[in-house]
Amino acid sequence: MTTGLSVLELIDQVTHHEERTPAMFDLLVETLSALNASTKNYQTYLQAFQLRLAALFGYAPNFDACGQCGKPVLIGNGERQVAFQIVRGAVFCTKCCTPNDSSLHNSDQSIAFTTLSVQGLQIVRRLVHAQLSSLSTLEFDARVGNEMNELLRLYLRYHFDGLKPLKSAEFFQQQHISTM
Ligand SMILES: [Zn+2]
Repeated sequence: MTTGLSVLELIDQVTHHEERTPAMFDLLVETLSALNASTKNYQTYLQAFQLRLAALFGYAPNFDACGQCGKPVLIGNGERQVAFQIVRGAVFCTKCCTPNDSSLHNSDQSIAFTTLSVQGLQIVRRLVHAQLSSLSTLEFDARVGNEMNELLRLYLRYHFDGLKPLKSAEFFQQQHISTM
């Protein structure tokens, strides 16, 4: 229920009253149907929905190819993190940019970066490419879950002007705290 409410709350924030957006309606139906059929990993449906929503508005993030050189971003050479540029919605290969690069932490919005753990990168790729109906099989720990939430919060806040924190997401956190 909380995930479904978050999805609806987000749509309410990014659309204008009485605007016809059939693609978003289809995405909503698909997300809620998949969520309804699932019995676990509910938050992944919201995360996958957020990525698809951004794509519908022309802000599809690219986690596969480097935003600088265009080559596939391969992992497995001992790196623990990769850089992700929020403005361009692109991940960077370690040849073009390392997460420790001091320029990444410049407060200038035009080069705003964040970092993504290798495990986080693997999960976000699956969130982007997987069928919504298969998300309940996607297992990851709370640390990666928090990383996804933070990445999506930064990404959506940048690309959707005036986006407010989701009330239903606060409820998520309270639930999380109360079960710790
Ligand atoms: Zn590169």
